[in-house]
Parts: sequence; structure tokens; C-alpha cells
Amino acid sequence: MKKQINKTRVAELTRQLLVELGEDPDREGLKGTPKRVAESLAFLTGGYRQTTKQVVNNAVFQSHTNHMIIVRDIEIYSMCEHHMLPFFGRCHVGYIAKDKVIGVSKIARIVDCFARRLQIQERLTEQIANSIMEEVGAEGVGVVMECRHLCMMMRGVEKQNSVMTTSAVLGSFRTEGATRQEFLSLIKTH
Ligand code: ZN
Repeated sequence: MKKQINKTRVAELTRQLLVELGEDPDREGLKGTPKRVAESLAFLTGGYRQTTKQVVNNAVFQSHTNHMIIVRDIEIYSMCEHHMLPFFGRCHVGYIAKDKVIGVSKIARIVDCFARRLQIQERLTEQIANSIMEEVGAEGVGVVMECRHLCMMMRGVEKQNSVMTTSAVLGSFRTEGATRQEFLSLIKTH
């Protein structure tokens, strides 16, 4: 795990960046900006200073159900590693428990733990799936994520309405076509 972020250093670098961009970091509106950017980046990259073990914190319970458990529409806010611009949207998680289940809020916190790093959407999707598989010891896991990327919307190809969809399936979600189909039909939003 990474050590604490040096916010003073990040604020200094932000100040230099403002100068390079052609701004005057001493003008009224920008005075507090380097410090605010440092605070904001510390939060948005907080996942580097967390482990999923800490996040889950033993909130895994014995259960003998082997039904599919679905959590839909978990909000995602992350930053692309190519441009350090946000991408955001929602993700849907499904798993089949063997003998343990995990609290719903913990699934959302696992998502945030990986989203608060520089990411590509494909890897973020896989990390969430792998982590739930490991923490719960599930029989199978599926994750589908739909996001809009500001690096595509504000610059580059300027495709304002495109949504990127990624998926990761593990265990029985990968090997059993019927299980995968059930998952996909349960998360269908439109
Ligand atoms: Zn990008």
C-alpha cells in the first residue's frame, strides 16, 4: 500500500502547472486553488492508500443461499490514466454465494476502492470482479460497467453521447451460459 500523499508537494506542483498553463496563481480566484486541488486529488486517488481487506472489514457473513445476488446501478466516478480526466457511470454486480455473502454497502466500497485510482475501464471492471470473487469465495461473479469518458466527450473524437460498456465474468458466470444469461437479463435496464 502507498504511503500518505504529500499534499504540500502536490499543491506546489499545481501552482507550477497553473503558471505553465498561462495563469497567474496569485490572482484572487486562484489563491486557494493549489491547496484545493491537492485535497481533491488526495480524495480521488484514495484507493491507492486502501486495501479491499480494510474496506470489507470482515463484513462477510455465513449463508447457505445459492441464489444469484444482484446489486444494480452502483455509481462510478473514476479517472482515466491516459488523460487524468473523469469517467463516470454505473456498474452492476452479480454473484452466486457458496457459503458466504457480503454486505451491499461493502460492494459499493470495493467499487470505490478501485475507482479512486487512475484507471482504464476494462481493468477497473476486472479488479472489482476479482476482488468480490476473492473476498466472498463466490461460485461465480459478473460485473458490467457503463461509463462516459470526459476525455472522449471534451476533446479527441468529441463523441458526447457515447457510452462504453465493459464486462467481466468469473467462475460459473463464465462456464455456464445459462447463469450468464440470467445475470444479463436481471441487470437489463432498457
Ligand atoms: Zn482518457
